[in-house]
Amino acid sequence: MPQVYKGVQFIPGQDEFIPDSHVYVIGNPESGDLSIVDAGLTGKGSYKANSVKQLGIRPEDIKRIIMTHTHLDHIGCLAELQKDFPGAELWVHRLEADLLEEGDDRAVYGMEMFKDMCQTQFGLDGNAFKFKVDRKLEGGEILEIGDMIWDVVYIPGHSMGGIALYEPVAKILIPGDVVYADYAIGRFDLFGANAAQLKDSLVKLAGLDVDILLPGHNQIMKGVPQDYIRKTTKMWEPYLM
Ligand SMILES: [Zn+2]
Ligand SMILES: [Zn+2]
Repeated sequence: MPQVYKGVQFIPGQDEFIPDSHVYVIGNPESGDLSIVDAGLTGKGSYKANSVKQLGIRPEDIKRIIMTHTHLDHIGCLAELQKDFPGAELWVHRLEADLLEEGDDRAVYGMEMFKDMCQTQFGLDGNAFKFKVDRKLEGGEILEIGDMIWDVVYIPGHSMGGIALYEPVAKILIPGDVVYADYAIGRFDLFGANAAQLKDSLVKLAGLDVDILLPGHNQIMKGVPQDYIRKTTKMWEPYLM
């Protein structure tokens, strides 16, 4: 069941020993102006690209790839996807975009130990995560893309330049790894993470009217209870100081 809502398709991550992020394709199919949200883990590019094509989407209709944030499980296969969708721009929050443009991969790997492990595992060199970013987001933008309207919400804490996409008509929230189903939230111990900022970001998201929650991993939620994010925030508050 890849279609979550008209104009929102779901391609589940294929977790290995490291998770692989979900991918969402947003935009009205007839618009010819579609966006991929997040890429996934290194090596998952052909799975993701084939899944997009199996939805009946023409590669030239993918106009951009928007990253919720740039952890390896989300950006690992970006270069692979860019080969399949050569016309797609790359949109990232400025704080993580600046790092990508310098080839600074601290936000990608999150910690040195993980970097060494992944470089060995995937045969990656020190230049694997240098990208040109076409649009640097700040948060607060109202994107009119694919005959839909998506608000960009800046939600640091899990990473320094995390963003959510929010569609106010169907009340759809794509929060990356900041909040999940089952009252879970993203970790806050990696490079650029900050517990207090994460709390503020959760409070910000709790203020949105959300009916469909599409996180970066695990279950997606439809018919989200009214105060689900507020309750989740409350549960985690003691740890977010
Ligand atoms: Zn993450
Ligand atoms: Zn993730």
